[in-house]
Amino acid sequence: MEQARDVHSNDAQGADGESAASASASANNSGQLAEGQSNPGEGTMVLQRAESWKDRYAQWRDNTSEQLNTLDLAPSLAENIGSGRWFRGLGTMLALGAVAIAFWPNFSALEAKPAMTTDAGVRDEFRSHMIMPLALGGDSGRQMSAGVQVIPLESAPERPQIELVATLAKGDGFSSMLRRAGVGSADAEKVAELVSGAVPLDEVEPGTRVDVVLGRRAEAGAPRPLDALKIRAKFDLELQVERGDSGNLSLRRNPIRVDETPLRIRGTVGQSLYRSARAAGAPASAVQAYIKAIDNQIDMNREIASSDEFDMIVSYRRAATGERQAGQLLYAGIDRGGEPKTQLMRWGKQGRFYEASGVGEQRNGLVAPVPGRITSRFGMRRHPILGYRRMHSGMDFRARHGTPIVAVTDGRVTSAGRAGGCGNAVRLSHGNNLSTRYCHMSRMAVRRGQNVRRGQVIGYVGSTGLSTGPHLHYEMYRGSRAINPASVNFVTRAQLQGRELIEFRSALNRIKSVEPGKALEDLVPTRKETEVPLREIEKIDTARKIS
Ligand SMILES: [Zn+2]
Repeated sequence: MEQARDVHSNDAQGADGESAASASASANNSGQLAEGQSNPGEGTMVLQRAESWKDRYAQWRDNTSEQLNTLDLAPSLAENIGSGRWFRGLGTMLALGAVAIAFWPNFSALEAKPAMTTDAGVRDEFRSHMIMPLALGGDSGRQMSAGVQVIPLESAPERPQIELVATLAKGDGFSSMLRRAGVGSADAEKVAELVSGAVPLDEVEPGTRVDVVLGRRAEAGAPRPLDALKIRAKFDLELQVERGDSGNLSLRRNPIRVDETPLRIRGTVGQSLYRSARAAGAPASAVQAYIKAIDNQIDMNREIASSDEFDMIVSYRRAATGERQAGQLLYAGIDRGGEPKTQLMRWGKQGRFYEASGVGEQRNGLVAPVPGRITSRFGMRRHPILGYRRMHSGMDFRARHGTPIVAVTDGRVTSAGRAGGCGNAVRLSHGNNLSTRYCHMSRMAVRRGQNVRRGQVIGYVGSTGLSTGPHLHYEMYRGSRAINPASVNFVTRAQLQGRELIEFRSALNRIKSVEPGKALEDLVPTRKETEVPLREIEKIDTARKIS
């Protein structure tokens, strides 16, 4: 319609314009007319359009499938492997795979709504309930600042009594240990004096615990006075220090009943003697001592069968308060078929084992004086310093400076000191007219007249006297004549005789009468130990029973 108005306003512009305008107007009119005419047949128009779309689609489909056929995108991958056509097929497959993977869903946990809403207030409440790590201050709960009503105390009240446990450390002084625990120095000295009257203070074992009770301070700043103290001074003695009514400290001894029945352990040897004995409850140190003693006496590998029984007796102490202490091995035996096969008992001051017949442990041969290679033997040789051939009257062992030198067998030190070219030398006499000498020592560990045992350290390797370097020159003498140490191999055995043998046998019978496992029972408490102070209410009860 707007267009039509324009047409009318252009009328004045001339015939050409008018005719053109009227032509366009008529064309416009005819267009309106054509629309108006199509209104009744609208359905057929849509159908016609759909038909044309369908045709165009069919044509496009034909064209596309024709083109795709010529492209040959999906050939069989089983044929012509490696050809260009095959690679094209592979490419199609990979592309389809990539599309499939691109649509792979992302698995993640679904977030649920929390059952409780946590706003700032709730979070603060949580915080007051949690336990904070020490590193972050360790404080928890609600904090309150002091209000106006809070009046600070002038001094906090103290506990009337403090109970604590002090432990005596190794190399620690008794009174200094008490002072560290908070006992005043006057009290500490007094207690040390009282305790030392009962037990020498250096005999109190390190690790002993002392129960200390400290009382109320007489005035502010003064040390707390000692109210009571309890210490297990010895295995069989407890000491108590108490402050009496007069204010003086006094000592009370509580002897503890101790039973010394030795611990006897028996069992079948089985696969391993060590394991069987340990399984039967023997302490490890006792089993080791047992094996060593038996091994000295018999060949353990050949002469002990798995069906044999071991029998060991260990010194043992039981206190009425429940403590137990195992000591050294007293008896070692092997039984076969109920009869004793080997019986060894410790006897004498040196604590050696003797067989039931009274024969001591057999000591085969001599031990080497030092662990080292022999560099020069007994016989004629060219002297390394003097330069001419002469008799080498001993054996040389190569060893480092300071290596311990041990006695080759039991003996007595007949001399220890400088001996010319021999340097620092120790000479031992072993009985049977036999003696040994050890030369060039850097340091001697024994004195003249001392008794030494086989394997005991008598000195240390050095290079004193006529020597080219640290080594041990070792000599053996029969009377005054030097002999080859390698030629002597003596066996020593002690033999008990006469009165001592009788005593030994009766002691053996006594120790073998111990019942196995008897020492493991708890001590039966005596009446005094079980006595518990009666309360008044219990006294009333008993009185009623009697009536
Ligand atoms: Zn030599």
